[in-house]
Amino acid sequence: MKYYSTNKQAPLATLRDAVVKGLAPDRGLYMPETIHRLPKSFFDNIDKLSFQEIAHTVAEAFFGEDVEKESLRQIVYDTLSFDCPVVRVEDHIYSLELFHGPTLAFKDVGARFMARLLQYFIRQEGRGLVNVLVATSGDTGSAVANGFLGVEGIHVYVLYPKGKVSPIQECQFTTLGQNITAIEVDGVFDDCQALVKKAFLDKDLNDHMQLTSANSINVARFLPQAFYYFNAYARMKEMGLADQMVMCVPSGNFGNITAGLFGAHMGLPIKRFIAANNANDIFYNYLQTGKYEPKASRQTLANAMDVGDPSNFARVYDLYGASHHAITAYISGATYSDDQIRATMRQCHDTTGYVLDPHGACGYQAIKDLLREGEEGVFCETAHPAKFKEKVDDILGIDIAIPDRLAKMMKGKKEVVETSKDFGDFKEYLLRQ
Ligand SMILES: *Cc1c(COP(=O)(O)O)cnc(C)c1O
Repeated sequence: MKYYSTNKQAPLATLRDAVVKGLAPDRGLYMPETIHRLPKSFFDNIDKLSFQEIAHTVAEAFFGEDVEKESLRQIVYDTLSFDCPVVRVEDHIYSLELFHGPTLAFKDVGARFMARLLQYFIRQEGRGLVNVLVATSGDTGSAVANGFLGVEGIHVYVLYPKGKVSPIQECQFTTLGQNITAIEVDGVFDDCQALVKKAFLDKDLNDHMQLTSANSINVARFLPQAFYYFNAYARMKEMGLADQMVMCVPSGNFGNITAGLFGAHMGLPIKRFIAANNANDIFYNYLQTGKYEPKASRQTLANAMDVGDPSNFARVYDLYGASHHAITAYISGATYSDDQIRATMRQCHDTTGYVLDPHGACGYQAIKDLLREGEEGVFCETAHPAKFKEKVDDILGIDIAIPDRLAKMMKGKKEVVETSKDFGDFKEYLLRQ
């Protein structure tokens, strides 16, 4: 299968090129040329299948032409070493829990899948070591580092701003060892990002080592998230609740929801989608006005959704033929302030006992506000509340337990390489590797 760029100015790319490059040369996002519809029989029997079996079928529809059959099966099963259950919160409202992976957030699936697919291409070509550079303000670093942990043939360098990430986030990429190196930069996030960008453009470095990125817009990171929606449908069907199912996705860069919309294009019978935003309301405003007007991002309680110019909007727009009418017919939006997020978390905890994290709270509230008679709503709980322990404890007045897998990382020994924000220092370090 070939991949085209949303900007339509770049040549078609193979899957391998799209994965290794990430962004198209015209700075557009790659889209698969064809979206295969899955047969009715698959949906009729989907409730009898496991998450892994469902994901395998979906992965074959996307990647089956480009990845050898047995390898693809292995990539899918290796990636999905954990479940994503649907849990009842109250009548007509269900939580699709996407936080059962190693770093307790939904980005694990995309990062793990990408790591394994990249490894597959590296092996096929008999290339030497490939080095992934990633700058993080917290969560991306942990998902990428854990996703690539122990994957042979790839070394990951995570650059993060010294003293600017929470201890829970920091331990998730500084205590891993093996093929993961954490680089503590004496600067802010923008300095880390600038170092990574300069490295990609530096001739000496590129002659010395193979460099690639693991950006969230990479097709190998974003498409596998479609697996979630097929599984949500299957688990709701199992309970006899899938006929008028509405999916609600707390959204920032819009990768997760876009993957769900790809699912819908493959025939997944979800009635409609809701995109739940925090105070960063660019998509919400687009739905109301038909105008897409990016803004500077605003800091909120649900900080993984603080995006002022969501990259994947380009994919949504392309998928619906640039039609505002088609987009609003299938997707609605909601936007919540920090005060509303706090109130929602308290209300849900008081009345149901369910502990929401600030991102999931936007999803839960949007279902509450927008669900119609006869519909069943499922929202993505995109992160475990313990990942935001200080905030959640403070808002709810509880002491939420930290899951074992996170507690283990917090006890691990922190190992970092320290560097200034000066590119010369960083370059010199990499040249010694
Ligand atoms: C990344 C993230 C989001 C936003 O997902 P997008 O795909 O960028 O829309 C929501 N919640 C959490 C916890 C995240 O880490």
